[in-house]
Amino acid sequence: MKMFVALTSLTAMVSGFSSVETDYANIYADQLIDQFDSELDQKLELGNISLTESKTYAKLIAAREFIEKNAGHGGVTAHKKLSLLTVKNSTKYSEVVEKIDSQADMIHELKKEVEQKAGNVIYPSSTRDGNLTGNTFPKNTWSLTFDDGPHASRTNQVLDNLHANNMKASFFVLMKKTHQLPHVVDDIIKQDMELALHSYTHANLTKLGSKGHEYEITTSKRELEDATNVPIQIFRLPYGAGMRNTKIRDVITRNQLVHIFWNVDTLDWKDKNPQSIFNRTIKQMKATPNNSGIILFHDIHAQTVIASRMVMEYLNEQGKTTCTVGEVINYLNNKEQDCLK
Ligand SMILES: [Zn+2]
Repeated sequence: MKMFVALTSLTAMVSGFSSVETDYANIYADQLIDQFDSELDQKLELGNISLTESKTYAKLIAAREFIEKNAGHGGVTAHKKLSLLTVKNSTKYSEVVEKIDSQADMIHELKKEVEQKAGNVIYPSSTRDGNLTGNTFPKNTWSLTFDDGPHASRTNQVLDNLHANNMKASFFVLMKKTHQLPHVVDDIIKQDMELALHSYTHANLTKLGSKGHEYEITTSKRELEDATNVPIQIFRLPYGAGMRNTKIRDVITRNQLVHIFWNVDTLDWKDKNPQSIFNRTIKQMKATPNNSGIILFHDIHAQTVIASRMVMEYLNEQGKTTCTVGEVINYLNNKEQDCLK
């Protein structure tokens, strides 16, 4: 009985602590999104937006990582109902902001110079040639990418919308979830979509040693190929973390994978409003160098199903070309592609 009491209070203490921090980080992330959106509006007038140059964007990535480290994938929720005024003066809130901002400084530094030069051939490599951001895509060509699935219902809803819009997309799946929902991954393949890897457990690889890197990349890839019989050619690091880490890039290269970043972030992991997700996406799309690139979604959220359908319809209305990332890689490597004829 004594033991039980002790354990219960310990659990309460631990989760209580992390949930306050998570709440504050969620509040901070909401503010960062507002800031990101207004910067987007300002920069649109000047033209040219690069996610890798935005400090606010680096803070958003750091905030998401912070929230998920404390509370897992389910930790991301809207907390706007908590009064900002009450929170802003608390020491704990400042501490959380400080932690996130200092992590963001590192992320911002590391994200620079990952752009690969236009016209380069893309192949598994730890140099820039082995990383694709979308900024060098052919004009008016877009790839829709969906991360963090498979999901028991939402992945199939996205697949239905893609089918209705006669469109293909790339799905960066987690191996852990693939084991839980193999039939959903089968549906991705059956519908002729591109299957891609996004690690085993969604860990931040920069926080792991070489054993962790092997598990998250090498073991993952092998298990995904064994389970599906589909050769896996592209990979995306969770949070994009580790793109310039030589050790991590070497493991990616050794597994014959090209690393895929993005140049449009919908921020659908945090924003629950499909319309504002859509608006943010279109604004960023219009500000890309070639009116082309890679759009990042997560097929595990209800808002994503709606917002991504709106983007699909927009792409069709505007007569844009959509291809999977793999198809664009082939095209850039001088192989003719049906989607780009
Ligand atoms: Zn992810």
